[in-house]
Amino acid sequence: MLRAHSRGAAVQKPSPDNPDVTLITPTSPMSTPTHGGRAKCLQRLVRLDLPVPRTVALSFASVHQIASGYRPDVSGILSEFDPNALLCVRPSSEDPDWGGPGAVLNIGMNDARYVDLCDQIGTPAATEIYLRFVMNYAIDVARLDAEAFDEIEGEGHDALTEALQIYEEEAEEPFPQDPAVQLAEILRSMARAWEGTTARLLRQAKGAPVDAGLGLVVQEMALGLGSGECGSGVLQLVNSFTGLPQVTGRYLSQSQGREALDGGAASIFLEKDPRGPSLEELAPEAFAALKEHAALMRARLREEMQIEFTIENGNLHILDGVRVERSARAALRIVVRLAEDGIITKQEAVMRIEPRALSELLHRQVAATAKRDILGSGIAASPGAATGKIVFSSEAAQAGAARGEPCVLVRRETSPEDIRGMHVACAVLTERGGMTSHAAVIGRGLGLPCVVGAASLRFHVKRKQLVATDGRVLREGDEITVDGTNGQVLAGSVQMIEATLDETFRTFMSWADAERDIGVRANADTPADAKTALHFRAQGIGLCRTEHMFFEAERLTPMREMIFAQNPQDRQAALELVLPMQRADFLELFRIMQGHPVCIRLFDPPLHEFLPTSRAGQRELAEALDIPVSDVTRRIDSLAEYNPMLGMRGVRLGISVPEIYDMQARAIFEATVEAANEGITIVPEIMVPLVSAKREVELVRGRVEAVASAVRTENSADFTYRLGVMVETPRACLRAGDIAEHTHFLSFGTNDLTQMTYGLSRDDAGRFMSEYVRQGVFSEDPFHILDTEGVGELLRLGVVRGRAARPNVVLSICGEHAAHTESIAFCRAAGFDYVSCSPFRVPVARLAAAQLALADKIG
Ligand code: PEP
Ligand code: MG
Repeated sequence: MLRAHSRGAAVQKPSPDNPDVTLITPTSPMSTPTHGGRAKCLQRLVRLDLPVPRTVALSFASVHQIASGYRPDVSGILSEFDPNALLCVRPSSEDPDWGGPGAVLNIGMNDARYVDLCDQIGTPAATEIYLRFVMNYAIDVARLDAEAFDEIEGEGHDALTEALQIYEEEAEEPFPQDPAVQLAEILRSMARAWEGTTARLLRQAKGAPVDAGLGLVVQEMALGLGSGECGSGVLQLVNSFTGLPQVTGRYLSQSQGREALDGGAASIFLEKDPRGPSLEELAPEAFAALKEHAALMRARLREEMQIEFTIENGNLHILDGVRVERSARAALRIVVRLAEDGIITKQEAVMRIEPRALSELLHRQVAATAKRDILGSGIAASPGAATGKIVFSSEAAQAGAARGEPCVLVRRETSPEDIRGMHVACAVLTERGGMTSHAAVIGRGLGLPCVVGAASLRFHVKRKQLVATDGRVLREGDEITVDGTNGQVLAGSVQMIEATLDETFRTFMSWADAERDIGVRANADTPADAKTALHFRAQGIGLCRTEHMFFEAERLTPMREMIFAQNPQDRQAALELVLPMQRADFLELFRIMQGHPVCIRLFDPPLHEFLPTSRAGQRELAEALDIPVSDVTRRIDSLAEYNPMLGMRGVRLGISVPEIYDMQARAIFEATVEAANEGITIVPEIMVPLVSAKREVELVRGRVEAVASAVRTENSADFTYRLGVMVETPRACLRAGDIAEHTHFLSFGTNDLTQMTYGLSRDDAGRFMSEYVRQGVFSEDPFHILDTEGVGELLRLGVVRGRAARPNVVLSICGEHAAHTESIAFCRAAGFDYVSCSPFRVPVARLAAAQLALADKIG
């Protein structure tokens, strides 16, 4: 039974003999959660008085019943339409991204209608319509084997006859001639397709709830009969790639392209085009009306819409409106223009962009339309994509760079010795490692596309070969593309789209910042990082890893000398070399950051990362120290640790060899004085890493205070500074109360905290992590997405205990998790002051934080 409800009428519960089938009128009860987005949109178009053909909507409940075996009320549906009309059925789910069965067109086509249509629109066009319907029905509804139709040899009418014969042979019954039978079968097949396992899993992967429903809309087709202009097409008012205003679309003119229907392109462009008459020329009134309708839809549906339309004898019919497909950059421009035109609010614009999508704007990306020849994949550790020649060593990368060739540095894993290569490479690919491995952290810092833990490829670094998952062998010099956004390694070069940071981006981000209620700083170690951080409007540096300042070749050796020194005199000599370097580093950071806070972490070198592993590196160090290579290897052996990440790191080095931290404190204070002389006011923040006991802080604090007094006296200058602790061991969280007594701030390092909470090596977990996630042991890689349950509980304890001891202690997080929405939500709830992440992720964090604040406001 068909019902056209008046506004406010009670919605009748569907039942087997009264399925919920509703004619779409301005007042029929129709909502996205009950009938799907397409049905609701069509109702909106009807309300706007647009020329929408008669349409009937079947609710989710009704379609579910059909899938469960109830016969649809086809006579009720058909009675609503002209008996001669051809119909189409389209899916209408709550979110178009959840997929759904394909539309079926031209329902009602049969032998009798074919004869009539041949008279009306000519045999070729009528044949084309009938043949398409038969094939569509056979394959998608009757589920016949598509290959059976490959044998069709004839053309035109002969092809149709053959198709009908094949149908009869394969289905063991003639092609159904009764429109009611056709429609019933189509509804049943679409309903069942939605409830099939594959479709369910696919949409759940896109975030659909388990019980997501499907609605269907049955619409009269405007066939384009008559002697005037007839055809069909789509139109939109913006360019899908750029988001700039531009009338675009396609139009297929049946009147003009009748012979084109027999073979050949029949697309006729919308606006004037040298290749043939445009829609504007063929049907100027319809074209003008289309543009008007599209503008009206934009204003009233508050979205850029694509119109699907037909023209019949010069008259326009609007069949559907769908949200314009868009690239990330177009999406940003579209929402900014909608807000600037007063159609949506700025807040709504901010809510409409996925924070992750911003990455696409900040980096070069593989174009969505590009062909991907996948060699293998790994962990997407640093976004963006780049194409270059394979090199297997840092030296080869530098040689390539000298020749002006973009190179992809391929290593089992990277260490400080590779940093020169990383600086000149266009991308990095490693066999080992996870989200917090050396390659990943440095790659993100440099904005370098990076795939790590690519164990599906085989790395024969010595043989200079990389073997793809399918066995293809690649050699040094072969070209590959690293897609750090999705973790794929591709053969050769692919089409890319460039990064864009234009005025639209800045406008959008300023709207986001107006809503944000938590600070965002950047992890920046070098002047280049700091410039990027400031460019992305970071509110300061939240973590400067000072050991990363020693990755450059000319600095690595003095750093190693400092570590290698066996007596105070030798160490003093090395420190005297390092001090001016550090002072210059800090002064440069203070200058770049223009008075924004800069938090400097004292040395935290996992010692093994700074020991030369190669014979050449060991020889280089022997030369620099003027000692035999055997002494170097002996000393390396004596410094070797079974578990370097839990060894002589961070404050442990600072307590055991206090002159190193003394030197750093002096460099920071002397740079502060020099900055003040240049007119830059800075209150440096000094952070002590890997603390687990209050006494460690007391000891470091005493020495730092002594250095500060000495520098004040020597320079007759005054300055203030803040001392803080990096909370990254479980014990530091538990004892945060004692520790906070001595500190201005607590910065939670969730990389090490995750490592130590789980007892998982951050460098080795990549090997089994995907298996763990696949089997549901962990819902996500905890080095990637903050484990708010386990690690989070320690964080909460740290916050509560730290705040209880020192209410005004400043709280932040600086692990790699910091830019994620989930982590920021956690930090806001726990009362953190700011998050600090890689410079290139700062905009992502700013937007995620703004959306969380807005979501709270909206409730
Ligand atoms: C951390 O452990 O979370 C951190 C930021 O420090 P690093 O990654 O340098 O160990
Ligand atoms: Mg750490």
